[in-house]
Amino acid sequence: PTMLGLESSCDDTAAAILHGRTILSNVVLRQDDLHAAFGGVVPEIAARAHAEKIDIAVERALDEAGRDLSQIDAIAVTAGPGLIGGVLAGVMCAKGLAAATGKPLIGVNHLAGHALTPRLTDDVAFPYLMLLVSGGHCQFLRVDGPDSFVRLGGTIDDAPGEAFDKVARLLALPQPGGPSVETCAEQGRPTIALPRPLMDRPGCDLSFSGLKTAVLRARDDAVDRDGGLRESIRADLCASFQSAVRDVLAEKARRALAACPDATAFAVAGGVAANGAIREALQDVADRAGIPFLAPPLALCTDNAAMIAWAGAERLFLGLTDDLTLAARPRWPLDESAAPMLGSGK
Ligand code: ATP
Ligand code: FE
Repeated sequence: PTMLGLESSCDDTAAAILHGRTILSNVVLRQDDLHAAFGGVVPEIAARAHAEKIDIAVERALDEAGRDLSQIDAIAVTAGPGLIGGVLAGVMCAKGLAAATGKPLIGVNHLAGHALTPRLTDDVAFPYLMLLVSGGHCQFLRVDGPDSFVRLGGTIDDAPGEAFDKVARLLALPQPGGPSVETCAEQGRPTIALPRPLMDRPGCDLSFSGLKTAVLRARDDAVDRDGGLRESIRADLCASFQSAVRDVLAEKARRALAACPDATAFAVAGGVAANGAIREALQDVADRAGIPFLAPPLALCTDNAAMIAWAGAERLFLGLTDDLTLAARPRWPLDESAAPMLGSGK
């Protein structure tokens, strides 16, 4: 089918047109400039910007795809989880379009959009293991079907991307921290002892806030009398931090794979998957398990509407459509309908 997808759950307003697995357009209108002065996403500002920009995003997506609304088979929209004002802006727009055209409306869980992206870019059968690893998320999911997910574990505090960003701040490196820490780490060696949080505990849960604090302490130990940090030590700190994140992600991935022995593939999504060292270690885990490692292109791994259109197509195929009573949900656990995960064990 030809799908229109809408996404507005965080700070990007996005619309995309998908025909089968072909992406005809994938428009993302960023809001970074609006929030930069506040040091974080301001919900009220985001909501207003989404409301202002969502129609523009849709128009542009149709335009770039060379389609008009009558050629769309269904409308998929992120219905949560996320900042409620933004989600509402998308849902209202989608409802308006559905009411005006009579086309089916499909509410999509944002995380399901991320988790189903490997099926948009590769031929992958259920079940597969998914690691969502970004500035806001870190979780292992067993993807059993378009509407069937089991959460195997995740971070109990910060997300790794957030930790990269904070460590960059501690070391006076530019934001976003991921790329700048990775670049700096190339000049250093992982010689500074840092913890591997939760490594000794069974299961797939992770923790990153203690690691960040450990970097802060190591930095304070290393600064010289006039408060300066030698360039080589800064590089060693970056390399040591990156190694610690890599080690815990790889070990927990190994355990998550052990907990789903019938997984056909191991896929990652999220900005942190752009990290070369981390990606290599995760690839190695998949290699050892004898299954393909899939890392969709970054533009489809970070927030976008093509993934929402795709998840909508998967739901449409199962007959899972919504009506105009579709609600925006600030919280929406992916595996809500699934049984609680029992010990995800070593
Ligand atoms: P959400 O999951 O809520 O969409 P987000 O918008 O922060 O969160 P992404 O855009 O997927 O997520 O990822 C951004 C994060 O990825 C940032 O924290 C950034 O530092 C991190 N990141 C980007 N490149 C790298 C890299 N090379 N190494 C490590 N982290 C990286
Ligand atoms: Fe996201």
